[in-house]
Amino acid sequence: MTTYDYVIVGSGIAGLYTALLAKEKGKVLILTKGSIADCNTRHAQGGIAAAIGQNDSPELHYRDTIAAGAGLCDPEAVRILVEEGPQRITDLINIGVPFDTTEGQIALTREAAHSVPRILHAGGDATGEHIEVTLSRRVLYSTINVLEYCLATDVLMENGQVRRVRALDLRGGSTEEFECRNVILATGGGGRLFKYTTNSEVATGDGIALAYKAGAEITDMEFFQFHPTALRLPGVAPFLISEAVRGEGGLLRNVEGYRFMPDYAPKADLAPRDVVARALVNEMRKTGSDHVFLDVTHLSPQTITTRFPHIYQFCIDHGLDITKGLIPVAPAAHYMMGGIRTNVWGETNVPGLFAVGETACTGVHGANRLASNSLLETVVFAKRVLDKSLLEDRSTPPTVASDRDCQVLPGRRTVSGAPQLGLFALQSLLWGKVGIVRSGESLESAADMLATWEGMLPPTTDRPSYELNNLVLAGRLMTEAALSRKESRGAHFRTDFPRTSQRWLRHIVFRTPS
Ligand SMILES: Cc1cc2nc3c(=O)[nH]c(=O)nc-3n(C[C@H](O)[C@H](O)[C@H](O)COP(=O)(O)OP(=O)(O)OC[C@H]3O[C@@H](n4cnc5c(N)ncnc54)[C@H](O)[C@@H]3O)c2cc1C
Repeated sequence: MTTYDYVIVGSGIAGLYTALLAKEKGKVLILTKGSIADCNTRHAQGGIAAAIGQNDSPELHYRDTIAAGAGLCDPEAVRILVEEGPQRITDLINIGVPFDTTEGQIALTREAAHSVPRILHAGGDATGEHIEVTLSRRVLYSTINVLEYCLATDVLMENGQVRRVRALDLRGGSTEEFECRNVILATGGGGRLFKYTTNSEVATGDGIALAYKAGAEITDMEFFQFHPTALRLPGVAPFLISEAVRGEGGLLRNVEGYRFMPDYAPKADLAPRDVVARALVNEMRKTGSDHVFLDVTHLSPQTITTRFPHIYQFCIDHGLDITKGLIPVAPAAHYMMGGIRTNVWGETNVPGLFAVGETACTGVHGANRLASNSLLETVVFAKRVLDKSLLEDRSTPPTVASDRDCQVLPGRRTVSGAPQLGLFALQSLLWGKVGIVRSGESLESAADMLATWEGMLPPTTDRPSYELNNLVLAGRLMTEAALSRKESRGAHFRTDFPRTSQRWLRHIVFRTPS
């Protein structure tokens, strides 16, 4: 049997970029449950943040990131993000990512809660696609072994160390085990927990379940970012209308045509995402509508079609010319701030197990992610994962968290006459009761239902059944964390505790009972 130096699970930016670094150091295998192209990364539109502009500095980027995180960012992790970010951008350029330029300089745009223009983009609003295509080409023409349609199901330990990954070959149906020295989980987020989401079908929180079952700590799960502006058209899956559209001057109006954001925040349309998302919910409730409008008709058609060609075309394909008509939008689940707890080297508390990308919680986002920091986080911490994994001394377990912080999932009463567990039922429950606006009552009832469904899980035989099992576990971790946090902070808002409390200036961490 081949022993790999690195088994990497996932083929988004996190998996591919880490693999390209790792191939210089050893034998690398990527397992991915769809085709290599199936991931959230390719849908990223706005771009990647980095302090490379003339009026910008890592210090300014640091301050914006810390402010967005509402008190829960790890200052050391943020410092690393903003200081190492520009070097990783240079690496991406050297790898061949074609960032847009104006007059020979990298073009930078502005997004909400950034104090200066600092977002690099490619192909206008097709940044993720360009990154993904560039990296995957490099991977496919290298020595890296890629197994597509291969679903990782377990991380297996030996003598307190990660030793193997078990996976289901989705085409042949067989179970395989891959021996390795390091496992890097790069499995992305969990937007599929919710009925409305901008995320692709792969975002089912698998990494959370894999890590949790292996004994890793999971943290900050109560913080899930809802993007305010996803296209809301009947029969069309929520399609992201990038924040950069508001950055370029797009304005939100309710269905009566009223421009409401100045009533909610000094920064109006460019307020942080959680503030805008809640304002939309309020306006939709007040006007009895399931959407508001985003208005770009005052921008020149040329600005719209050159700056947002992808969004423009998607809307045209669905019968909407956004240069002339208003865009119906509503919030949708977008980004999982919490995840597998890591230190600033991407290490989990399980020796040999690393996490990178959206599945990891490095501490840079705190209670709310600053737009376009996630792609940057991925490349910055991927490099650090690799640097750390090269160190041979495994005698001491990684320092990640202190035990006294950790909770176990509580037992709960079961709900009699509970409806059948299914993906849609789960997503509707979480959208309705653990969504943008929560309360103790809604969270309690969701927690009871999830615990009941945990006893009704389907046997794991194929991708949908594994994913449903993983979603129920991730949903439980999210709901119990939201119930524990008796305050509102960042993306977590409770009507019964609408204020932020100093007492909750701490993280909620779960681990399997030992
Ligand atoms: C519509 C949209 C727009 C966005 N725009 C931006 C933006 O402009 N800027 C920004 O910074 N961020 C943006 N984000 C967020 C950002 O794109 C993601 O956080 C980032 O791409 C995540 O990368 P990743 O590699 O961690 O995960 P992904 O790209 O989602 O990749 C995860 C990979 O893991 C695989 N996988 C999962 N589970 C398993 C398993 N059990 N076995 C095997 N393989 C598995 C998947 O198939 C996939 O290949 C956006 C997100 C969305 C959805």
